[in-house]
Amino acid sequence: MKIGAPRERIDGEARVALTPASALQLQKLGYEVCVEAGAGEAARFSDDAYREAGVEVVDGPEAFYAAADIVLRVRAPEGTDLDLLRKGQILISFIWPGQNEALLNALKDKGVTALAVDMVPRISRAQKMDALSSMANIAGYRAVIEAGNNFGRFFTGQITAAGKVPPAKVLVVGAGVAGLAAIGTSTSLGAITYAFDVRPEVAEQIESMGAEFVYLDFEDTQDSSSTGGYAAPSSPEFREKQLEKFRELAPEVDIVITTALIPGRPAPKLWTEDMVQAMKPGSVIVDLAAERGGNCDLTVPNEKVVSDNGVTIVGYTDFPSRMATQSSTLYATNLRHMMDDLTPEKNGTPVVNMDDDVIRSATVVNAGEITFPPPPPKVS
Ligand code: NAD
Repeated sequence: MKIGAPRERIDGEARVALTPASALQLQKLGYEVCVEAGAGEAARFSDDAYREAGVEVVDGPEAFYAAADIVLRVRAPEGTDLDLLRKGQILISFIWPGQNEALLNALKDKGVTALAVDMVPRISRAQKMDALSSMANIAGYRAVIEAGNNFGRFFTGQITAAGKVPPAKVLVVGAGVAGLAAIGTSTSLGAITYAFDVRPEVAEQIESMGAEFVYLDFEDTQDSSSTGGYAAPSSPEFREKQLEKFRELAPEVDIVITTALIPGRPAPKLWTEDMVQAMKPGSVIVDLAAERGGNCDLTVPNEKVVSDNGVTIVGYTDFPSRMATQSSTLYATNLRHMMDDLTPEKNGTPVVNMDDDVIRSATVVNAGEITFPPPPPKVS
């Protein structure tokens, strides 16, 4: 069978779901591989690089969708891409089925089988295909780089002939995958790094990365801790304590990276307007929760704004796409691992085995039937 990736036509999307390196691996699974001409250009993979990896380069979306039996994408299909999908094709992409009922219905009507990478369960066996984590890791790294780019000083402290430079102080709010990547990047650049999460179990990880966990003087930690590894909403009392602590830190810190999310809910508002006002001019906030409404009151999604007191607030929602070579490489690797599991005989023929927990969870439409939501995975 033939597997391939089209060009991502959505504005500002620079990633691609197939790289020359992943194409070589897919060929080892018995597939013929194709790509739409120009698909990798924005991520710096030329058509020639694909050809050298044995990939057929097909001109235009019509020819691509006619050729590919399995379509690998980054963004959920829309417009031309959705129109051109055809019965019997397998689509693998980000789909966000919980928020995209119309798309699920369209995929059902098309008679395709669709696997959502965002539905891969976060269990050990599926880590190699966990695109949410590989993209969050890049977002966390890039958030710190973006902060540095907007900050007028060094991260690390220096004693130079021209004077002594104090280290920057960075606060990371939320220590999931993106937050931990931000902490690692910030400490490696030499900043004094503080981090907070409602899940007390991450304190050890934070400290092992050279950052300081911000403890709250609050007894009922159970109340605002976690369910199934994810955060639950905080009680009003816990939230008050948290905001009180952040108010204390606001005049001290130079950079705040916020990454706090609660599954299925808007991002909690944790960095209020008065905290922004209390920060020093030249400070920077990067709000990785911008797409879900933002953790900071003043965040404008997809924009960079400056408050009246000179604090830059970055609300970009496309950090992985801003590092398209890296993110395409990791994403394409996640997908080829998924294809590995979908091709048990390694003979270029996919098997959507609905008894496999990981494949079952990811499959949101199976041969024209909606199979979302899945039952909870049995293994961990
Ligand atoms: P996420 O993006 O949903 O949330 C980011 C962080 O925000 C979380 O750490 C959460 O606790 C924190 N948060 C929520 N409300 C907060 C608040 N009020 N104040 C401060 N922080 C707040 O999380 P994620 O990065 O997707 O990871 C969630 C969990 O899944 C973690 O436990 C992670 O280790 C786990 N995980 C497991 C696997 C695996 O086993 N394969 C893979 C990835 C992630």
